Amino acid sequence: MDELRVKAEVREESQSRLDLSMPVRYLKGVGPARAKTFAQLGVETVGDLLEYFPRDWNFLPESTKIAQTRPGRPATIIGMVESIDYQGYHRQPIFEAVISDDTGVCRIIWFHGGFLRNQLEPGQIIIASGKVTVYKHQLQLTNPKFVVLDEEHPQSAEYFSGGVYPACKGLTSRQIKKIIGCVRQAADKLVPEFYDRNFLKKANLVGRKEAFAWIHLPPDEKKLAQAKRRLKYDELFLMQLGLALRRYKVQHFSTATPCVCTDEIDSRIRKRFPFLLTEDQNNCITEIAADMGKSGPMNRLLQGDVGSGKTVVALYAALLAVANKKQVAIMAPTEILAGQHSLSIERYLKNSEVKRVLLTRGLTGKKRTELLDRIRNGVIDIVVGTVALLQADIEFQKLGLVVIDEQHKFGVAQRAQLRKQTTPHCLVMTATPIPRTLAMTAFGDLDVSVIRHSPPGRGAVITRWVDRQNRRKAHEFIRERLKAKKQAYFVYPRITAVEQDSDVRAATDEWEYLSTEVFPEFTVELLHGQMPSAKKRQIMSKFRRGKIDVLVSTVVVEVGVDVPNATIMVIEGADRFGLAQLHQLRGRIGRGEAKSYCLLFAETDNETAKSRLKVMIRSNDGFEIAEHDLRLRGPGELFSTRQHGLPDLKIASIVDDFDLLVMARKNAFELVSQDPMLTRPENRNIRQALLVKFGDSLGLADVA
Ligand code: ADP
Ligand code: MG
Repeated sequence: MDELRVKAEVREESQSRLDLSMPVRYLKGVGPARAKTFAQLGVETVGDLLEYFPRDWNFLPESTKIAQTRPGRPATIIGMVESIDYQGYHRQPIFEAVISDDTGVCRIIWFHGGFLRNQLEPGQIIIASGKVTVYKHQLQLTNPKFVVLDEEHPQSAEYFSGGVYPACKGLTSRQIKKIIGCVRQAADKLVPEFYDRNFLKKANLVGRKEAFAWIHLPPDEKKLAQAKRRLKYDELFLMQLGLALRRYKVQHFSTATPCVCTDEIDSRIRKRFPFLLTEDQNNCITEIAADMGKSGPMNRLLQGDVGSGKTVVALYAALLAVANKKQVAIMAPTEILAGQHSLSIERYLKNSEVKRVLLTRGLTGKKRTELLDRIRNGVIDIVVGTVALLQADIEFQKLGLVVIDEQHKFGVAQRAQLRKQTTPHCLVMTATPIPRTLAMTAFGDLDVSVIRHSPPGRGAVITRWVDRQNRRKAHEFIRERLKAKKQAYFVYPRITAVEQDSDVRAATDEWEYLSTEVFPEFTVELLHGQMPSAKKRQIMSKFRRGKIDVLVSTVVVEVGVDVPNATIMVIEGADRFGLAQLHQLRGRIGRGEAKSYCLLFAETDNETAKSRLKVMIRSNDGFEIAEHDLRLRGPGELFSTRQHGLPDLKIASIVDDFDLLVMARKNAFELVSQDPMLTRPENRNIRQALLVKFGDSLGLADVA
């Protein structure tokens, strides 16, 4: 007994010393068991609890005087309990109360209301809300929602109003609300203001305290909207601040070797390309050369559709580094793609003195050791390999630039983990056009260069959706093209069929079917990711040389094959692919001058899937497609903030709150340029909040 009391006192005590990092376990109404349940909801601390925002809100209806109520209409009445009566002998026992205000009397009945016998008593003031009827000439509420307003529980009116919380087993919304209610009252002390009054006014934001109080218990709709706006802004602002700091750190605390670009170097590099660079390519090169000329490392994303000419831009950057006596690592996601890069580099560097190598997994033993030595001694200028290979045990003597080709993948996670004294400049290429919102969030600490328009000479790609009835027709159409010596890709979502998902056609089975039944007169070959590398290379090479008519594969062809004569692509189960991926795949055709055809084979009734396919048919613009993808699937599916070291967003949405995002970004980057370590006293609260959100990953903790 005593022990219990002591525990209770400890709780009381800590309640008064409430702070944001206090575990919820010590709160009144939360013990170890409930704390576990809270943890399932992602709530560990008081701070988490305050940010456990409602998913919906109720508002206290305006109360009506009894005389003014209209039978048949809902009303909320505040009155004093005059009398109570329990009729337990009915088949449906009835609890009855009569309440009055200064205008009249109203009867309230609750069927099966026996439990009210020890809740209601004469003299209490209650609020009751329900539909008013007339029964035996008297106004009546039947089974209304109600609450006793008493002095001990002044917040009891909250019963009708306030947040509805996402609940789970073992913790109802009502219980969560009650617990947050206790904390909320202390919010005044817990959530210090970030900004000065002038800013708040200018930005049309309410105070942080008000925002927290109102989001959980909004006095009215308008204040709720204001609270949401403020909290969304703060969330986006802190996220942008994290990005701004991350970038500041890279730019100011790591050094890179500047690579100067003289006119002579520039023209020497350009001579390597058998064409004039496009305006977009030139702009990107200008931006990249400016970055590389600085002693802070470049951190730039180069985005542009497949075939837009990124490789050429990256090669320019590589040659600029080499001209400055630096080494370059070019990393691709797969061996095939690394090979592809190597091939195109060879094309441009024929007879050049630049020493370049392709590092493959197949290279082992003494040969490998020798090569690694030459890299370590700085003899080799450009090394091409997969991300895995180049991150393994390779040492460079003077690594000046890392080019990372990410193809369709979002995720800059593996940026240059290479061993180094100085930080190399870093250029990340992506063929997935990144919607504005993601460019500002997931990639928000990178500078971005964009190639919007592809070089001339690419044929148009016509996209069609083919359903079951039209398959045969499509096959005949393809046969005609094959007869004209064109080549085709057939892409499948799977290598082999699985029983659970028998609707999906698989590459291995379909290869047999296509080669024996549909196109027996042509050479049909299979290519998939689980084949040995040598075999894959052999097939790719045959296809490139036109020795294979139809290449049946899984998405491995997604990665870099440049076969201008391949003008047909069939994507089987197209409804199973994301838009970005479909667009990537489609980029493999239309590489020559001839017209190309992308046939999306799909049977689906799913509306989202259908609208995705329609976007593909309508648009060839990667940026437009990416924006659609983001809208259709939501940002959560495209990228997770966690994956990028950013805290999850709890209330803001990068898609729906784009305007706030822009404002937050501008202000955050401005703040960092003025007070990079946030050491000024007026920024103390912001800094504190940032530490809570990001932990120490921003290196803020080491400066006092
Ligand atoms: P990406 O890497 O963006 O997929 P690439 O750099 O591989 O694109 O270029 C695609 C094709 O376009 C290549 O065959 C390349 O030789 C060609 N190309 C690139 N830039 C130009 C240009 N300015 N003019 C003409 N052809 C170009
Ligand atoms: Mg390329």
